[in-house]
Amino acid sequence: MHLGLTTGAPDLIAAAIAELGTEIGGMDTPISADPDTGLPWRTRFDAKVLALEEVMLQSAAYVVCAYLSGMRDSEIQAMKRGCLSITRAEDGAILRHRIKSTAYKGKRGGGEETEWVTIAPVAEAIAVLERLSARAGQARGTTTLWPVLALRANTKTHISAEIVRQLNRYRDHLNDRFGTAQAPIIPVGPNGAPWRLTTRQFRRTIAWHIANRPFGTIAGMIQYKHASVAAFEGYAGSSRSGFRGEIEAQRALGQIDDILVYFDERQGGARLGGPAANRIGAALDTVGHELAPLPAMIADRPRLRTMLGSLARTLHVGPLADCFFDPATALCLNRISEPGATGPMIAMCEPVRCPNACIVERHRPAWQRGADEARLLLREKRLPEPQRVTLQAEVARIERLLEQIAPGAATPHSGMAGEEEEAGFRVTG
Ligand code: SF4
Repeated sequence: MHLGLTTGAPDLIAAAIAELGTEIGGMDTPISADPDTGLPWRTRFDAKVLALEEVMLQSAAYVVCAYLSGMRDSEIQAMKRGCLSITRAEDGAILRHRIKSTAYKGKRGGGEETEWVTIAPVAEAIAVLERLSARAGQARGTTTLWPVLALRANTKTHISAEIVRQLNRYRDHLNDRFGTAQAPIIPVGPNGAPWRLTTRQFRRTIAWHIANRPFGTIAGMIQYKHASVAAFEGYAGSSRSGFRGEIEAQRALGQIDDILVYFDERQGGARLGGPAANRIGAALDTVGHELAPLPAMIADRPRLRTMLGSLARTLHVGPLADCFFDPATALCLNRISEPGATGPMIAMCEPVRCPNACIVERHRPAWQRGADEARLLLREKRLPEPQRVTLQAEVARIERLLEQIAPGAATPHSGMAGEEEEAGFRVTG
């Protein structure tokens, strides 16, 4: 740019460049390494990109808070400096992260001060926001954790609705930095255009995961279950917050989507395994026959949803098997002392024995891992004989089970539960 100027001695600058060469300018701040490449995650900062990256960091912190806390946008944006408190045990271990903010839903006037319990990543994001908001907060005399960071005249104090535009700029920024035009790092929306982020999507998405994939993991190996256990301890767990209702609504949507996947895969020739295979296979086939001669993919989907509705309501996806829950035969319920459980205890699932358990191709990696671990143990020469026999039997059973769901395999026979019980084999989820 300088060389293009008519004033400013471009000839001297050109001579200096010829003699000294150039380098990317900016500050000497150390830049952390990108864990994927081991290289600095960006080129050096200068005053302009620093301002941009601060705004992007604020957006990233918003995503972490909105996604993992179960809080609404208004509740997040009401957070003030000092809103995070930590409860420790006598030995110093952290017991709880608590956030104080204001709940507005259904509250007259200015809302009500309320407390949320959350997990460590949200606490870390708040610690970042405390530092990030300090300068702008001080300059404007505000204690919000969400000030507009740019200190230009005539700008708002609080980020408020601007967060939506900022989140979408963050999406573009991530795509520019880490994706390509063909493969953006944030997947595109259904119409092929960049996904349009809104503040409500985060709470809904975590509600979907808590309802439908509680065993799934978020980056950093936190389980959705952990996020939900923490959230339910605080205001998000109360009926007033509406978060439970959100989860139930997402559960119903997820169950329908999951049963449609079952149906489509069954129509495509997929095999089912586990004790419930015959029952569920027959139910899906019956619906398939009723819909014939329409091919499954172009069948009347709303009608299909209705036909599969009652089966869907019993479906709970699990890591080792899916549960088509029938309380009358649920083995996991025998293992809890408190009566009145209304849903399956997936953590106590007995996928090989329970008549409600159905195993599909999606479960193969988890079973495969189990077999691999058993094989690894079997390599130990000093393994006691009884343990060796048990492990060998376990590997053989897993192999049989995987054969059942292999493409082209015969439909499993219904006596599996009894057979496994007889062999004294018990795999729990
Ligand atoms: S044992 Fe497993 S499959 Fe059976 S009801 Fe419980 S969670 Fe469902």
